[in-house]
Amino acid sequence: MFVRNLLRENDLHRMRLLADLIDVTMFLVDRIFMKKLAAAWLCLFSASVWAETTPKNIIFVISDGMGPAYTTGYRYFADDPATKEVEETVFDRLYVGSASTYPAPVSGYVTDSAAAATALSSGVKSYNGAIGVDADKQPVQTLLEKAKAAGYKTGVAVTSQINHATPAAFLTHNESRRNYNAIADSIFDQRVNGQFTADVMLGGGWLYFQRKDRDIVQQFKDAGYTYVDKIDQLPSVKQGSPLLGLFAEIGLPWALDYPQKRRLLPLAEAAVHQLENDKGFVLMIEASQVDWAGHANDVAAAMVEMADLSDTLEWLEAYVDSHPDTLLVVTADHSTGGLTLARDGEYIWSPEFIHTLDQSPKTIADELGKIDDAKKRAASAEKLLKVELTKDEKESLEAITAKDDKAFYAWVKHYIDLKTHTGWTTDGHTAVDVPVLAKGVAASKFAGNQDNTDLAKKLGSFIQ
Ligand SMILES: [Zn+2]
Repeated sequence: MFVRNLLRENDLHRMRLLADLIDVTMFLVDRIFMKKLAAAWLCLFSASVWAETTPKNIIFVISDGMGPAYTTGYRYFADDPATKEVEETVFDRLYVGSASTYPAPVSGYVTDSAAAATALSSGVKSYNGAIGVDADKQPVQTLLEKAKAAGYKTGVAVTSQINHATPAAFLTHNESRRNYNAIADSIFDQRVNGQFTADVMLGGGWLYFQRKDRDIVQQFKDAGYTYVDKIDQLPSVKQGSPLLGLFAEIGLPWALDYPQKRRLLPLAEAAVHQLENDKGFVLMIEASQVDWAGHANDVAAAMVEMADLSDTLEWLEAYVDSHPDTLLVVTADHSTGGLTLARDGEYIWSPEFIHTLDQSPKTIADELGKIDDAKKRAASAEKLLKVELTKDEKESLEAITAKDDKAFYAWVKHYIDLKTHTGWTTDGHTAVDVPVLAKGVAASKFAGNQDNTDLAKKLGSFIQ
């Protein structure tokens, strides 16, 4: 009995021990499991935070010369007069803040496109004229170089020549924007870990890339790039192949002189299509000629350049909607021309007239310049501008006797300025802050007022 009881007690003791052991084991398993679970959650959480805060693709659009008067002016230019409200534009919709544009102290407060592009590509302020170099003329790493080194695909799509200040300051380095041939050379000669800086380059520039002393187009072809020289060839280029597309001697013709009044959109579409890949891409798109219209004080060309950009941004906006891992940031490098939406004390700005134009003011002026007879010239101006000129307007046109393209261009522009009540204060740049637009992953990081160098630093921080 005693023995039996003892055995039983022993059994009970063993069972208790076993139970304790199971408890402890369960506890440990639980702890380990919870830790693992916690670690797994942490991983998932940080991955999702990373994915939410870090874009896979970056599309950086720079509208050269697009100060606030341009985005505002475009709103009224694009307004549908048949409706009571002023319609929202893509510039209104994506607006998040502004950026200051001043260059390094040596160049004062008013930047040029080279210093501004260097700030936007590298986060470093430099002197006016600097292409991807700091104030001591030392090369600084650009966004495209950083992206290329990290394994992204990279590209530029612009309406200027691709060795012009803005794209040049993303692609390469030179102490002066004016060294066009040297810049073109270095776009081929320079490598990032043995690779070309950009997989896709679309814009103008035959003059610099197909020279007597060097055929850089042929060199790119030999290096495996597909080359096209017409915009309508772009859709048939094999997806994913490195691509060089040059579509003009220097810059592309004005948007106003294209049949659809558009040419940036097909470049942007083709660049995005070519660059898409698993790792991600970084693409710089430039509406280069908003600035050129500003320098020329040509409001008609300016508004239609803005329309070309607007269509491009609407396409990119839809692209980000369907590719939510993409970040779109849009800004300008500075404002140009001191564009004013009203003049001479009158409370009127009326851009509607620009919609009636089928050709750029420059092309109309060139037509007028071909006509010797002053009376015939006035008649031709009425036909080309689809207007009836007053006696004073006819006389001012007839007073231009020499075959002076500049004088005819000035006359056409002045006529359109008076018709639309547009003012200008300079044929150069101004120091006003520029708009910042953003959409997609991490777009909120670009809200508020910031410096142009901050834009580059924020974009650069996403590249891993
Ligand atoms: Zn400029």
